[in-house]
Amino acid sequence: MSTVRELLADGRPTYSFEFFPPKTDAGERTLWNAIRRIEALAPSFVSVTYGAGGSSRDRTVAVTRRIAAETTLRPVAHLTAVGHSVAELRHIIGQYADAGVRDVLALRGDPPGDPNAPWTAHPQGFTHAHELVSLVRAMGDFSVGVAAFPERHPRSADWDDDIRHFVAKCRAGADYAITQMFFDVEHYLRLRDRVAAAGCTTPIIPEIMPATDVRQIRRFAELSGAGFPHSLAERLEAARANPADGHRIGVEHATGMARRLLAEGAPGLHYITLNRSTATLEIHREIVGSAPAPALARR
Ligand code: FAD
Repeated sequence: MSTVRELLADGRPTYSFEFFPPKTDAGERTLWNAIRRIEALAPSFVSVTYGAGGSSRDRTVAVTRRIAAETTLRPVAHLTAVGHSVAELRHIIGQYADAGVRDVLALRGDPPGDPNAPWTAHPQGFTHAHELVSLVRAMGDFSVGVAAFPERHPRSADWDDDIRHFVAKCRAGADYAITQMFFDVEHYLRLRDRVAAAGCTTPIIPEIMPATDVRQIRRFAELSGAGFPHSLAERLEAARANPADGHRIGVEHATGMARRLLAEGAPGLHYITLNRSTATLEIHREIVGSAPAPALARR
């Protein structure tokens, strides 16, 4: 099966879906229901986020391995450096290699509990994502992705600092990047232009988050530092009494963004599913009806 690196080299847009490791048996059933519905669309790849700590991390590994073993999907495993020694990171990467997972999204991660707390590296671990990128590349023929921030990473002193460190991750061996969520296409375009001006050609896949529930989105936006357009927030607030209206507004906004991003040459779309498939499938169906044929995962 092609890696994400190979799919992107194909030149056609990639379409991918992101899941998180469920905490309960009911959550596991909801997740697998969504995975099976999305599998039927033959997306380019799916990704599974890495838990902030404890047993959710084992579940990330378990879900990713099961996707590799029991579905026709290409799984991308998120991995963070939080609380891990280099030896532990090597062990997890080895588990992925053993399961036939060849795609890793290499992340620094945030301090567990409070993402805004000061970062403390494991005494035998890494401080920044570029070190994890180098480790994954050194351990085998993996295709490696990294994070990109359309409104710059909240810890970066300024844009120059942010772009310099992003380019360093790419030079360490990243094949592509996936962005943080954002709700205004201009943020993505400005990031892309800044990265290109720094001489870096790494493809940057925009993340699409359907904003169907205003309270939930505000919380995510606060945590991630993403701005939330006032006009969209007002429309969603006005629709609070009628969830079907909120759903429609969020799907329309995300579909409009996705169309424009592809028209502007974005290399693909990465949908956040929150382990549910309805909103993302509606957006995706609108998009594939009008977009170039996707780069498909092949076994
Ligand atoms: P880095 O690239 O290390 O950057 C972090 C900060 O350090 C930035 O401000 C950067 O400018 C700065 N920096 C980088 N290198 C240097 C250097 N050499 N010297 C000084 N400063 C430097 N988190 C999870 O816990 N699990 C997930 O599964 C997960 N998935 C994600 C998926 C995507 C697509 C995105 C965008 C984020 C995801 N995150 C996840 C969140 C991510 O871990 C945090 O946003 C984290 O704060 C940044 O990670 P990074 O890999 O960009 O770190």
